[in-house]
This record gives sequence, C-alpha cells and structure tokens, in this order.
Amino acid sequence: MTMPHIVAIRAFTDNYIWVIRDHCHAAVVDPGDASPVLAYLQHEKLKLIAILNTHHHNDHVGGNAALLREFMVPVYGPANESIPTLTHPLKECNDPESEEGNAYIPEFSLSLRVLDIPGHTAGHIAYYGANLLFCGDTLFACGCGRLFEGTAQQMVDSLQKLADLPNETAVYCGHEYTQSNIRFARIIEPGNQALIKLEAEVKKLREQDIPTLPSTIAMEKATNPFLRCGQPEIIQNASNHAGKSLTDPVSVFAALRGWKDHF
Ligand code: ZN
Ligand code: FE
Repeated sequence: MTMPHIVAIRAFTDNYIWVIRDHCHAAVVDPGDASPVLAYLQHEKLKLIAILNTHHHNDHVGGNAALLREFMVPVYGPANESIPTLTHPLKECNDPESEEGNAYIPEFSLSLRVLDIPGHTAGHIAYYGANLLFCGDTLFACGCGRLFEGTAQQMVDSLQKLADLPNETAVYCGHEYTQSNIRFARIIEPGNQALIKLEAEVKKLREQDIPTLPSTIAMEKATNPFLRCGQPEIIQNASNHAGKSLTDPVSVFAALRGWKDHF
C-alpha cells in the first residue's frame, strides 16, 4: 500500500479543497464547491471515496450535495454542528480507537483522529494522523480564524491543542491567507527573524501563484503571533494597541484578534 499524497484544489477566491489521493481513489476535505472537485476527479480518473468537513460554513460544505449525486460516499464532519449531508458525525474521544473519534479511510489504511477545536465555529473539528493536520478555519499559516461562534479562551485552548502536535506535522488549512497574515504579524512582532525569512519565501511563492501551504507546526510556533501571545514584544505591542497593560495570554490573544479584525 503506497502512502496517499495531498493535492490542493482551488475554490472561490482563496479556499483550498484538500485532496487525499492515491492512483485511483480520492477523499476531499472541505469541498465548498463541487465543480472544481468533479473536474479534477474526471481529469485524474479518480473515484471519490469520502468527504471530510471541518465545520459548517458554506465555503467548506457547499459542494457536499452535488458530489453525493455523483458518488455515494461517507460524509464525515462535526457532530456538534448542523450539516444536512453528514453520515458520520464525529467528535474528539479519549478512546483513540473509538469510531466517533476517528475518520478511517480503508482504501488508504489511513486513520485520522478528530480534535475538537471550537472558536471559529462552536463545533469546529480538525483531522490529525500520519503527520497530517486538516484544521479548516482555526489555524492558518501565520494567523487564525475569526471568532464567529466562540470565545477567545476557547480559541486559545484550540490553538494550543494544535501547537502541541509534533513539530513536523504538516498543516493544511482552509484558505490562502498567508501573505496578508504575515503583513499583520510583521507589525505585531517586527523583531522576529523567522518571520522575516518566511515573508521573503512566501512572496516568491505567491509571485509564481504557488500555494504557501502546507505549513508545519514548528513553523507556526516560530512565526504565528496567535501562538506567541507570551512573547514580550507581542505583549508590549498588544498592550500599546489596547491602551492598557495586558498580562495574561488570553487577553493578549483577544487584543490581537480584535486588532486583526479591523486590519
Ligand atoms: Zn469558516
Ligand atoms: Fe472558510
């Protein structure tokens, strides 16, 4: 059995639909739009075998129904959100073998563990396994999702859960936001050398229209201001922006998130 590999399908202006594929099968993560997926499957002569959703937003689930008309496949997704086409509701479980805590794709012998990561939406989940992380709109390269249905504390906890994964974990997020996230991060932490280096690399990739993803957990810990709320330079800049001295990481996070919302 060969390890499946991951391919990006672009959708809308900046969404990525991630394809987990081998030479004849494909599973898709967050198909917001069916048409580019169907075109890809046809071009590559692949059979769809599963749909995985991270959260209920339409730019992540909008293509489910049309894909299901062509392929009768299981649809995995968060148990705590309403997604009409779901067949396998999932949530994080202590028992690593449990059925509702895993998406198992037999064609790839691939088991992806479910992590509950609320904040962007109330029931948002991530899929983790084989050094791959599909984290939807929670952790972005150098950024994080907006707080639509959750609190700053929830998002901090969710991001910490992802940051605790092994350094080499490949991070596949739902959008190409890296360049604008870096623009913000550079203002928050101008002295971060890893960030300066990343900015130059990302600029080169985007000039050639190449995706900047996947990132890695190690890279996010080194460059993502939302994972670095304990850094003195970040605490200082967040405090200056808030006009008061912020001490705990959740307040620093909340100040950064609010700042970025209007950036
Ligand atoms: Zn979203
Ligand atoms: Fe999204």
